[in-house]
Amino acid sequence: MFKRKTATFITLCMLVLMPVSIAAQRNLDTYKHEAVTWLENNEAQFETAAGKINEYAETAFREHKSAKLLADMLEKNGFTVERGVADIPTAFVATYGSGYPVVGIIAEYDALPGLSQKPGVTTKDPLEPGNPGHGCGHNLFGAGSTAAAIAAKNVMKDHNLKGTIKLFGCPAEETLAGKIYMAKAGVFDGLDICFTWHPSSENEAKLAKTIAMNNFEVIFRGRTAHGAGDPWNGRSALDAVELMNTGVNYMREHVKPTVRIHYMIPDGGEAPNIVPDYAKVWYFVRDVDRPGVDHVYNRVLKCAEGAALMTETEMEVNLITGCYEYLPNHVLTRLLDKNLRFVGPPKFTEKDQEYAKEMQRNLNVPEKGLSDEIPDYEDKETTGGGSTDVADVSWLVPISGELSITTTPAGVPWHSWAVASSSGCSAGFKGMHTAAQTLATSAIEAFMNTKIVEDAKEEFKEKTKDFIYTSAVPLNQKPQLPED
Ligand SMILES: [Zn+2]
Repeated sequence: MFKRKTATFITLCMLVLMPVSIAAQRNLDTYKHEAVTWLENNEAQFETAAGKINEYAETAFREHKSAKLLADMLEKNGFTVERGVADIPTAFVATYGSGYPVVGIIAEYDALPGLSQKPGVTTKDPLEPGNPGHGCGHNLFGAGSTAAAIAAKNVMKDHNLKGTIKLFGCPAEETLAGKIYMAKAGVFDGLDICFTWHPSSENEAKLAKTIAMNNFEVIFRGRTAHGAGDPWNGRSALDAVELMNTGVNYMREHVKPTVRIHYMIPDGGEAPNIVPDYAKVWYFVRDVDRPGVDHVYNRVLKCAEGAALMTETEMEVNLITGCYEYLPNHVLTRLLDKNLRFVGPPKFTEKDQEYAKEMQRNLNVPEKGLSDEIPDYEDKETTGGGSTDVADVSWLVPISGELSITTTPAGVPWHSWAVASSSGCSAGFKGMHTAAQTLATSAIEAFMNTKIVEDAKEEFKEKTKDFIYTSAVPLNQKPQLPED
């Protein structure tokens, strides 16, 4: 009797609940389509924005025009914008709505030195030789994320969806500095979940664990003297740099295979006949996790101390920045994958493909064109490659893995004039639209189905339960902004 009553009750519940869940699904799909349609109808304004940021080509912490352009756009579209957050003039946070859930989207917009390039040209042809260029496609990253935030906001407004959307204007990714100082200042506090993407030559939501890193300079100070007349009076700062590097190069045999150490010498003296009293070496030290980097960093500093002792020079360390390895959230990455399939891959034209193949021919790489495939999703983390300051955000709040979207022909070198070329033309813009659509639909889905938010938070809580975030950079250290 009891069993039959229970069964009847369950059946009744199902009859009541099922239409509701079907209706909810129908609403979700409708709202997502609305966001996609709005983005399709407004492609031109975001292409203009991406094109302008590409022209500005402002490097780390100099992105005044780029940040202003995006912040102004968000403000005009109903967001409240806080500019100059974390003591960085080119960092901002744009907010719309209130209360739970608080959903973030990351935007970047810094260029790389020396990569100036005419958009859409398939051979190296700088707009202005020696000037910066968008060889990592951050002009698309900034404009695409902004488009996504505005599209999601429009749906929230039209349908009274509860929650808050925040667009984080993050400068200086290329020097791994912007988000480190923003994280230290608590800018990402209060987020429930966050999404990010990056221009690429493939279409994939991926669980890549980028590696941890310290970026630092060692400065040696000695004493000048005539190189031939009285060298015994000199103490060479350049000798100290060379001895430090020799020590580090011997050390390479005795570090884990996952460690990466690379350096260059920005300052090695003025002339051979003057014993250099000032020299500077610039290092990146990396490993698969933060403790690994801390360990090797301390050993590298011992080489510097030894070099100073041997050369009777003074040494000073300037830790510019340091980041963690990336902790990608599986729940959110799966959501991006789902919505990437919902919106479909970039819609490249024949002309886009011809452009891509011509560039590939010029660069002697296989003529595969621009990828418009979405490979099967792999729910598996990978390690290796470079580092990013998004990683520090990943230890503070649940953030998706990287959504890679094709903006550049396959096989061309990254951080190059070739990427700067495609980031300023139709091929790059097509990828940017796909990224914006995927991010907007994912944000809408999170607002409408907060179980996703809760699942993402649960996963994050489990993975960080014994962890307390400590920035690699000293607490009271301010961002090192350029003087010009
Ligand atoms: Zn980048």
